[in-house]
Amino acid sequence: MTSYTGIIESIAREIKPLLNKGKVATYIPALSRINPQKFGMAVATVRGELFTTGDATENFSIQSISKVFTLAMVMDRMGDSLWDRVGREASGNPFNSLVQLEYENGKPRNPFINAGALVVTDCVIFENEDPLTGLIDFVRNCSGNPSIDYDREVARSEKETGHRNAALANFLKSYDNLANDVDRVLNLYFHQCALSMSCVDLAKSFLFLANGGTDPVSGKVICGPRQAKRINALMQTCGLYDEGGEFAYRVGLPGKSGVGGGIVAVMPGELSVAVWSPGLNTAGNSLAGMMALELFTTYTARSIF
Ligand code: GLN
Repeated sequence: MTSYTGIIESIAREIKPLLNKGKVATYIPALSRINPQKFGMAVATVRGELFTTGDATENFSIQSISKVFTLAMVMDRMGDSLWDRVGREASGNPFNSLVQLEYENGKPRNPFINAGALVVTDCVIFENEDPLTGLIDFVRNCSGNPSIDYDREVARSEKETGHRNAALANFLKSYDNLANDVDRVLNLYFHQCALSMSCVDLAKSFLFLANGGTDPVSGKVICGPRQAKRINALMQTCGLYDEGGEFAYRVGLPGKSGVGGGIVAVMPGELSVAVWSPGLNTAGNSLAGMMALELFTTYTARSIF
């Protein structure tokens, strides 16, 4: 049995000087009030062990990490028809960029940029009678934590200021790539981004991706092994927006980030690791979080490569 406690505690000490260097997201006003000194890290293994340090049990806004949950919800049910509406290539552009959509006739590059995530959210609505409850239940089921919910203030704040997402959704609609009303899709999207979870919740809820689609602790089948492999591949190529190459180079694991400062990474067959530090770099990824994960794969000599 490997204990990761010593490693993550020394990482927490090492990244301390970086906590002042990133910038907390301000374009969603409710996120701008978060203390940038927060740092948490949790490692969950397929054998059911859990290792934590710092603010690992404190809830934060998972933001774009939610895009993995919505994708997992629809991939099994929709099969390949999803890929008629969303691509599977890295965008090389910021997560909220509009430029490629026009060139590519309203088909977003991948499910993890905002445009692609809006299409996936549209599919979640199509597949579920009460989509928000369906999503919350899905996340509670993955994490084993029945108290997971969304943050009302963050959801409201996103709605009030989400003009760029509204532009993306309207643009998608003009290409007939949203089946539901624009407002309905945006509303669910803002709520999924406002889901509030801790590093412990996230590490536990991504374990199914380290174990071929089945949660190794509860034995629950979240998705099939093919879909788990594919979600990991998409996280590897598109999970950190236009920093996917940098993340592959420095960390070497499939991962997914959010502007709340969280990043989750998966080592298939072994573990999932979640980190939270609200200060972001210019690509919108957690600055200290990237470094913490780089140190983690360095010290543990773990990587998919
Ligand atoms: N809610 C955010 C947005 O849509 C999510 C972006 C992110 O985490 N990268 O802008």
